[in-house]
Amino acid sequence: MNPAAEANKLTNKLGIRASDTAELAFKDVRVPAANLIGKEQEGFNQILDLFNRERITVAAQGTGLAQGALEQAIRHISQREQFGRKISSNQAVRFKIAEMATLIEAGRALYYRAAWSIDSGQEDHALIAMAKWFCAQNAVTVAQEALQMHGGYGFLNEYDIARFYRDCKIVEIYEGTKEIEKIVIANALLGKAK
Ligand SMILES: Cc1cc2nc3c(=O)[nH]c(=O)nc-3n(C[C@H](O)[C@H](O)[C@H](O)COP(=O)(O)OP(=O)(O)OC[C@H]3O[C@@H](n4cnc5c(N)ncnc54)[C@H](O)[C@@H]3O)c2cc1C
Repeated sequence: MNPAAEANKLTNKLGIRASDTAELAFKDVRVPAANLIGKEQEGFNQILDLFNRERITVAAQGTGLAQGALEQAIRHISQREQFGRKISSNQAVRFKIAEMATLIEAGRALYYRAAWSIDSGQEDHALIAMAKWFCAQNAVTVAQEALQMHGGYGFLNEYDIARFYRDCKIVEIYEGTKEIEKIVIANALLGKAK
């Protein structure tokens, strides 16, 4: 069996296959008072606080994935020739590259600003949620366009871009799905829905 097929058999998930994932269930667990982390009955709020920091790291992960996918695309279209010229010389393709790079820079600026809100002691939940949602969406959009620019090669495991495509989806799911991020943003602007 080839290594890619072997890897498929060994993993239970679409992407981030180097990271192990398993469900943990706790039932009727008694925790001694000395082992309590934080305050009793405050667990949910404490975990939300942690989420705000984690969301920044996931926004950075999404931006890194998008940046890597863009670089893969630029490398490929600058080398591959079709119809007598480099794929990168087509204006339609060049426009896509410009759009992808702009999304990445906008996302990077947004998550830096969200990170700064924490560093400066003015933690802005809505800004953090915006960064997480936008950078995650960028990862999915850019990876998809970058794979498309590889044509059929993009579908084969021979090229890294297939891995970027598989890995990007999780950033729209964990540490708050994109829908939950939008709830956080809308609640900050409108108050909680009645
Ligand atoms: C690879 C991987 C690693 C993970 N790692 C961790 C980890 O380390 N720690 C951890 O605690 N969890 C982890 N998770 C779990 C992950 O955080 C959850 O899967 C995620 O938060 C979504 O929760 P759910 O799967 O229960 O989706 P659900 O809550 O069942 O939601 C399903 C869909 O419905 C939407 N939805 C739900 N409620 C609403 C609503 N009110 N309005 C609009 N849409 C809504 C969601 O956005 C989603 O699209 C991991 C998951 C994966 C796949």
